[in-house]
Amino acid sequence: MKNIYLFKESYNLGKMILGGKGANLVEMKRIGLPIPNGLIVSTLACNEYFKNQNNLSLTLKDEIKGSLIKLEKETGKQFGGSNPLLVSVRSGAPVSMPGMMDTILNLGLNDKTAKALIVKMNDEKFVYEIYIRFIEMFSEIVKGLDKEKFHEIKEENLKYGATKVIELYKDLYEKETNEKFPENPEEQVVMAIESIFNSWNNERAEIYREIHNIDSKMGTGVVIQEMVFGNLNNLSGTGVAFTRNPSTGENIIFGEYLLEAQGEDIVAGTRTPENIAHLQAQLPNVYDEFVRIAKLLENHYGDMQDIEFTIENGKLYILQTRNGKRSPNAAVKIAVDMVEEGVINKEKGIMMIDTETLPQLFNGTFEEGDIAGKKSLGKGLPGSAGVAVGKVILSSERVKEGESVILVRTETSPEDIKGMSLAKGIVTVKGGATSHGAVVARGMGKCCITGCEDIKIDKSNQFFMINGVKVLEGDIISIDGYNGDIYLGEIKLRRDEMNGDLEKVLEWCKENKDLEIRMNADTPTDVLVGIKFGAEGIGLCRTEHMFFEEEKIWNVREMIIAENKEERDLALEKLLILQKKDFKEMFVNMAGLPMNIRLLDPPFHEFLPKTEKDVNILSKYINKSTEHIETRIKELKEENPMLGHRGCRLAVTFPEIYEMQARAIIESAMESKDEGVNVDLEMMIPFVGGISEFKYIKERIESTIKKTFEEKKEKIDYKLGTMMELPRACLIANEIAEESAFFSFGTNDLTQTTYGLSRDDSVKFLGEYKNKKIISRDPFQSIDTRGVGKLISLANDLGKSVKPEMKIGVCGEHGGDPKSIEYFNSLGMSYVSCSPYRVPIAIVAAAQSKILKLRG
Ligand code: PEP
Ligand code: MG
Repeated sequence: MKNIYLFKESYNLGKMILGGKGANLVEMKRIGLPIPNGLIVSTLACNEYFKNQNNLSLTLKDEIKGSLIKLEKETGKQFGGSNPLLVSVRSGAPVSMPGMMDTILNLGLNDKTAKALIVKMNDEKFVYEIYIRFIEMFSEIVKGLDKEKFHEIKEENLKYGATKVIELYKDLYEKETNEKFPENPEEQVVMAIESIFNSWNNERAEIYREIHNIDSKMGTGVVIQEMVFGNLNNLSGTGVAFTRNPSTGENIIFGEYLLEAQGEDIVAGTRTPENIAHLQAQLPNVYDEFVRIAKLLENHYGDMQDIEFTIENGKLYILQTRNGKRSPNAAVKIAVDMVEEGVINKEKGIMMIDTETLPQLFNGTFEEGDIAGKKSLGKGLPGSAGVAVGKVILSSERVKEGESVILVRTETSPEDIKGMSLAKGIVTVKGGATSHGAVVARGMGKCCITGCEDIKIDKSNQFFMINGVKVLEGDIISIDGYNGDIYLGEIKLRRDEMNGDLEKVLEWCKENKDLEIRMNADTPTDVLVGIKFGAEGIGLCRTEHMFFEEEKIWNVREMIIAENKEERDLALEKLLILQKKDFKEMFVNMAGLPMNIRLLDPPFHEFLPKTEKDVNILSKYINKSTEHIETRIKELKEENPMLGHRGCRLAVTFPEIYEMQARAIIESAMESKDEGVNVDLEMMIPFVGGISEFKYIKERIESTIKKTFEEKKEKIDYKLGTMMELPRACLIANEIAEESAFFSFGTNDLTQTTYGLSRDDSVKFLGEYKNKKIISRDPFQSIDTRGVGKLISLANDLGKSVKPEMKIGVCGEHGGDPKSIEYFNSLGMSYVSCSPYRVPIAIVAAAQSKILKLRG
């Protein structure tokens, strides 16, 4: 069976056999583009090599030999001859795989061919330079020798001439490997092929495959291609160009080139490259040919291309083409333009949007020119996307309206809400992706860094230390919520608005998705933001977030401090009025879209006063001694509040709280309806673990609602459902489904409880897990499909076995994560819910998931 193919023999073999790079080159050859000649040692050969205990069989060796002869014929040059054939050798797996061996250039050089080439090119300096580079590359990549040792030799001996350096290089090679440097070009090529095959199984590549679920049986291909030289004469050159402007998306060729140069010279920056437009004046025919090919490639691949080319003696060669990287706004413009130009269809346009970088469109980035070269003071976790600049303030009370401030706290608590809402950005020392700071900041569309353990705050002396640098309150810092970097001083920001192109893309996505996209919204303002971005409902309204506004918190505290039901009822009566007002405003803003309100969830202690000053205020407010309050605070303290008296457990001990909330919700819904506002109401109970627990609470709520209907002589439709946040709830989901109108997966808590991993504390060590490649992504950011996902999938099936039409959605932070959205879509869920600012990203991710699902 054939294992090795010339480019022209392998049309349509595909990347599983040829590898990605090879398949691409072959395709360009097939459509008639000027590609330097070459051949591909296929993945079949690689697997054959492994089968033969990592040895090239005689048949394979013969096949290599035969193919090299064919390549000589095709090029009219000979390995080791007077018109020497030099080649590059590159790895090319079916999927791009960092960690494997990459490229060796100029194979075929030895003392004899170097001399022949000097005669042919008439450039001794150049030939020796590429010879030196070849030995370095070969020794480093094939034999793993330290390139620094080679550099030292070069530095010390270049003054004696290049041939001296080459001689010493070969001596070093021999000393380190006990082998002579291979002079025979064929032997050089065979050794390079073997080492590429071996690199498929090196540790880095294995880890990469494990993390990305890549089949280790695929093997890699090897591309062997004739070298072309851009530094041959002044009719030669090299360049890189994009078919459209990668920063603005404008439809003009964008790139640069250098005459009399090799690819590396552009990258090394030793000479300043020319704008590609100048090539028109210098080599007009080459330029026209390049523009023609660029358009052809763009149309062929249906995407903006990033093309590497070389000109050798007035002839253009294309060395590589790939889909070009682009800024998020360029991505949107290019997608819309290419659909409107008829080059691609809308589905392809949707797939062109990168959901990872899309948030930059809404949340801003640093000006590229201004961030360049700046060194960060330290790093935390990317809590909420965006960038911000402002004065450091260490206490929420000191954040003033209208000032640009970065709030730096050990951790945030609900009391920081006001300070957070006024600040431009937030940094916390503790906490992970689902900590309070991150969740709230994301909801506000604000940049936030969490878990920055490098920071040591000295609040009383108004400064913090970070990796030896002292930052005073009032100093300006710039923070990057995409990667967690913190910089001293101001860095200029860039923020783009929702533009017409993006609106078009979102419209296409809406027509092309199955998942409904809801928002996690706690206030009437959140609702307006989410609707503007395209939210189709509220998937989670965390009622407790309403409790922290100035006027309500004292009432809430009064309710918690209450010692008996009478006292509590009194406080609840006042709260009822305030909650009704909030809900009504939200119903009005929702205008008939579904709205899912969750009843009280956090443990009481989160609401209690934390400072002496607040204890004093509360003491006056409820007319009880400060000692009494302090005692209650102590009584309410829990060792492990996240697994303690929270969620529906609060309603088992104090049913009157959920009763008040149910009444407030139903009354405000009825009043809104009476005023002509459509209402689509869902209510849900958090942290349910058992069916009897759920039934007990459901009965209390339903009897309150019945009473309210009787009193008001009116009725309204509503649905009462559960959050699924505990493994036990998932395991008995069929029982719960008998009683519950819907499920909403609280994947933050479900991740916490499935892993037994604190969502607030895990930040301390998950970084190490990532560094050591034990995990690839934080499970609080991207759903763990293998573990947590199994529970979700099971509960989904069990729920639907009882109620096939049941609405099942996700409202944890994973609802805004594209990878997780793809998973939820694959389970056939009804909706995902995320912060208002992530709604556009979720819309695009939902459409992309559907397209991928249809493609299989
Ligand atoms: C969850 O646990 O996923 C959830 C949405 O609830 P919270 O984050 O408020 O605990
Ligand atoms: Mg929860």
